[in-house]
Amino acid sequence: MKRATPSVVSSNLVLPFPPPSDAIVLFDGVDLSKWRAVDNSPSRWIIQDGCMESVDGAGFIYSRDSFGDIQLHVEWATPAKVEGDSQGRGNSGVFLMGLYEVQVLDSYNNRTYADGQAAAIYGQYPPLSNASRGPGEWQSYDIFFRRPRFKRDGTVSKPGLMTVLHNGILVQDNEEIWGPTSWLQNHPYRSHPDQLPLAFQDHGNPVRYRNVWVRKLDEWTRPGPTNDDTKPLVTMGESVLEGYVGDYYGESEHPFVITREGSQLFLRILGVSKLDLLAHSKTEFTLRWTAGKIIFDLDDSQKPTAFTFYLGGQAIKTQKGSSSTQ
Ligand code: MG
Repeated sequence: MKRATPSVVSSNLVLPFPPPSDAIVLFDGVDLSKWRAVDNSPSRWIIQDGCMESVDGAGFIYSRDSFGDIQLHVEWATPAKVEGDSQGRGNSGVFLMGLYEVQVLDSYNNRTYADGQAAAIYGQYPPLSNASRGPGEWQSYDIFFRRPRFKRDGTVSKPGLMTVLHNGILVQDNEEIWGPTSWLQNHPYRSHPDQLPLAFQDHGNPVRYRNVWVRKLDEWTRPGPTNDDTKPLVTMGESVLEGYVGDYYGESEHPFVITREGSQLFLRILGVSKLDLLAHSKTEFTLRWTAGKIIFDLDDSQKPTAFTFYLGGQAIKTQKGSSSTQ
């Protein structure tokens, strides 16, 4: 309770925010066909005025489908009639994979611990701002979730990541989730399937939800080089590398210039860049930082005489020249 509470921001976001064309609509206000109780039976949550509402004692409600990496949109409203305080006021929660909670709470003029208020990653990260609307008003979360990755031995290779907008305001900025969220303690990660159901919490308060949709995100591949990309696949002596150095002419009057610093070759295009070249073989080199490739022609004594440069779907043939002949 001594922790600083986030500053209050009021949002003018207009709701509902309709689903985009590739969204999977999980709840459109009509029925709970895509939802179930924990034991797979129909949920006892009720539908009223185009929203679903939690029922005290009915337990969590789970999506029938399972999800991994997703963008999730959900709109929710705490009771218009204020009852209780702190964690007892409009408490529910959005549980990614049924394990990682973004707190739902009436945090409008309702003091509680910072990592337990609305839009907190419960027990871990307070929101950056308190973007809460008043009791009974519709609010939204847009959650961008990357599931945790596990190694074969069950340990974590990459923790889950979460970015959250609350009523359009950034409140969680790509935070690393520590493990399943829980009350009073921090549980370590335990290996689980790549896809699990989404869940909303029954915490005893009648909280309403509407307009729930997800977009499945492609499995994450971080762009940029891996360690393997950054070292030459073959090593060559400096005297051999020196043989590649020179000016290579295509149709343009501007040569491709290859230079050497120690055992590192560089390519200069139009004089503007010094691009690291990685040797894959005596004939094939690639650019370190982007998908460009050079294939050299070698003469009988293995000396480069020309190359073809491949970049962005283009292939440019060059011949090695010397500045004295140009
Ligand atoms: Mg909760």
